[in-house]
Amino acid sequence: MSDYVLRFGFSGLPVRGAIADLGACWQQLAAHRNYPAPVADWLAQSLLAISMLRAGIKDRGKLGLQIRGSGALRLLTADCDQQLHVRAAATCSESGELPSALPAIDDGVLALMLYDQDKMLSQGMVALSDHRQLPEDAGLAASLEHYFAQSEQLQTRFMLHFDQQRPTGIMLQRMPGNMAADDWHRLGLMLDTLQPGELHQQPPQTMLARLFAEDELLLFERRQPQYRCTCTRERVASVLLQLGQDDITALLLERGEVTVDCEHCGRIYRFDRVDIAQLFASGEHSVPGSASLQ
Ligand SMILES: [Zn+2]
Repeated sequence: MSDYVLRFGFSGLPVRGAIADLGACWQQLAAHRNYPAPVADWLAQSLLAISMLRAGIKDRGKLGLQIRGSGALRLLTADCDQQLHVRAAATCSESGELPSALPAIDDGVLALMLYDQDKMLSQGMVALSDHRQLPEDAGLAASLEHYFAQSEQLQTRFMLHFDQQRPTGIMLQRMPGNMAADDWHRLGLMLDTLQPGELHQQPPQTMLARLFAEDELLLFERRQPQYRCTCTRERVASVLLQLGQDDITALLLERGEVTVDCEHCGRIYRFDRVDIAQLFASGEHSVPGSASLQ
């Protein structure tokens, strides 16, 4: 079965939901990079969360998720655009021990950003080590629930599962509107009956009908997320230009060519002596200015 994100709602209840399977997207990410646990878990769960959240947004921009820290895990990013093109990557330092849980990340912050093109429209963030609110072993699901309660005053439930092959998940979000507290509680209890890995055993429609048998479900269009990177040779060239001719020439003398590999998709961009000469001869004007590779 191919990857999907299926949004759903409940007749008469201000609750939106989404259910997703990103097995193929994960395979593409994992084909280029080998991440250690638990970074792989967080990446897989980030892909799930970001695609389910993005599918529920009408704006045309890109939604980004970041986990930032000052220790061995420096940065984990995941983003998803309007067409449900997703990607994720993490930067870990060579030294130091990787944290075992999100609250253990030094100075850890979880942020969600909405972009229009490369321009950031909004950003919200919470501290990951908020022990008054989060258990010490909190995973991404609990951290995101904390984020939405704290930053957007929205009650949200996430179940994000990853068996090292297939990320599968489901989310519920209580929207503004009248709803008995019992109903929200009841939907949460239904979600709690799900066993890890159960989500990919049945088609999503069957799973939802079984899970919420007491409610009248509204099912929306089933969409297919795809792992896709937005890196291009032009963007890589613009980064090289910004590094400056002296540094690039030194690199060229040392290695014979300059190679840049994209951390998101693993694609390798090679620039030989002629490419570099042409790049700096044509100068800044011919290459779109951008400080980032992606
Ligand atoms: Zn790339």
